[in-house]
Amino acid sequence: MTTPKPTNVVPLRKTKCPICSKASTTEFRPFCSKRCADIDLGRWLNEDYRIPAEEAAELDDEEFADL
Ligand SMILES: [Zn+2]
Repeated sequence: MTTPKPTNVVPLRKTKCPICSKASTTEFRPFCSKRCADIDLGRWLNEDYRIPAEEAAELDDEEFADL
């Protein structure tokens, strides 16, 4: 058994853009540019849209009315 060397440890002070893995800038951190920040924002908005709570409730109601 060998102990893996800590070569994978990334120093925290150097933040990488979560979208494209480039070095992030202070202006748009944790992203590297406005473009990547927008991409991330778009992902969040899409997630919001996909919450099917209301849709499911409506479907339930319709099924009830049919019976
Ligand atoms: Zn980026």
